[in-house]
Amino acid sequence: MIKEISLGLALAVIIFSIVAGYNILPLVILALAGGVLYFIAQSRGLVKSFESSDKPNTKVNFEHIGGQKTAIKELKEALDFIRNYKEITLLGIRPLKGILLTGPPGTGKTLLAKAAANYTDAVFLATSGSEFVEMYAGVGAQRVRKLFKTAREKASKLGKNNAIIFVDEVETLGAKRGQNSSHMEYDQTLNELLVQMDGLKADESVRILVIAATNRADMLDPALMRPGRFDRQVKVELPDRQGRLEILKIHVRNKPLADDVDLNNLAKETFGFSGAHLESLANEAAIFAMRENCKQIHYRHFHEAVDKVIMGEKLNRRPSSEELHRVAVHETGHALICELLRPGAVSTLTVTPRGGALGYMRQHNEEEMYLYTKDYLENQIAVMLAGAMAEEQIIGNRSTGSANDFEKAFKTAENIIKTGLSDIGIVSWDNLSQDRKFKEVKKILEQQEKRVEGYIKQHIEEINNTVTLLLEQEKLTGDEFRKIINKKVA
Ligand code: ATP
Repeated sequence: MIKEISLGLALAVIIFSIVAGYNILPLVILALAGGVLYFIAQSRGLVKSFESSDKPNTKVNFEHIGGQKTAIKELKEALDFIRNYKEITLLGIRPLKGILLTGPPGTGKTLLAKAAANYTDAVFLATSGSEFVEMYAGVGAQRVRKLFKTAREKASKLGKNNAIIFVDEVETLGAKRGQNSSHMEYDQTLNELLVQMDGLKADESVRILVIAATNRADMLDPALMRPGRFDRQVKVELPDRQGRLEILKIHVRNKPLADDVDLNNLAKETFGFSGAHLESLANEAAIFAMRENCKQIHYRHFHEAVDKVIMGEKLNRRPSSEELHRVAVHETGHALICELLRPGAVSTLTVTPRGGALGYMRQHNEEEMYLYTKDYLENQIAVMLAGAMAEEQIIGNRSTGSANDFEKAFKTAENIIKTGLSDIGIVSWDNLSQDRKFKEVKKILEQQEKRVEGYIKQHIEEINNTVTLLLEQEKLTGDEFRKIINKKVA
């Protein structure tokens, strides 16, 4: 509106000046220079517009978010303060100013914020902490002011009483003050956010709620978490098995599934997947089906998609036949110990290079465990070491392919010591000397090496049979692998 009036005025002045016989050339040059400056400022992001989603995102509601029952319940509870504004003012309750969503990437924090806007019939403005980071002093603070102003203006324009400002990656903007090298600028921006939040009043014509999301709540300045600012924290965790099933159901709604697709089983196979992973999984499975000219998506497409989401696209790079044999032996070693220690655990065994790996063994993970026993951790170490041990026993030497396995095995051994589960009992990790740490880690690893060596020696024939079939087929399902192993076990 202001833009239109200014343009009209400018045009009127120009016409009047020409009619009155004034030289308007300096005026035109001045206007041009102003335009160029505005254009540069905009392209450098000094004049920022924020993503508003009055139309498309109103479609997102809490039914589109799976596996986050607790987060949704907590969030809704907070949002009900906004919906029932009149009732809460009667009781003298101060509505919330900020809600902080914390949790790993891709778990649905942005979706929750969009659904919150829909639930409260609010204008929704989305931005990211990184958009406030500029080398120019004061620009970030100016943007914060503009963000709140835009929210108020938009809501008034649309006749709404509520506006939700969503700030993703808030740790970039709200990290502990005094930590950044160009800290003055960061601090100014954060201060401005605090000032704006402090200035939010319940009786304004447009009530603003700030929803921020972060994967690093530990990095946030304590001033942000103080009551009266982000005084409600909602944890958005990775979904459990039931949650994964719900999310899968949401993302296959618009896809034709064949009868062999068992979503329950798929939920079991996708331990550790976030909502974003599951969305990508459903999409990739549909792409695989399309590549095969199938009218429906079959379970094998989903199975292939799981590998792709975990490991990345198949690589054209083919290792030499000698290397391929080594990879097959290595992966079979992992699979053998995994199966012996936890029967039924192996899900897939393959020598197809994907992402950074030449092959891999995927196991069904045990469902959501919060505590681990010493046996469990030692078994994990055994599985990690088994690749290298199989190479040594079958081929006669080891390769560099086990570096990653060893890294994980070290970490797990350290965890055993730190948690007081090792032979040296309860210790303070920080007070242990490097030498002592080294000796204890080595002891744990050597014990498992011995154990794995014993298992491998007893199963040389099965390993060789598996390797032959694996090289022939490139991929074995857990059941195919178990058929070979169980002959001996039976
Ligand atoms: P980040 O922390 O990386 O910003 P985020 O937690 O904000 O991630 P979203 O952007 O909300 O994650 O999710 C990305 C996509 O993943 C969504 O558009 C949706 O398709 C899917 N998704 C994530 N979580 C869920 C969920 N709980 N239910 C359904 N879909 C989900």
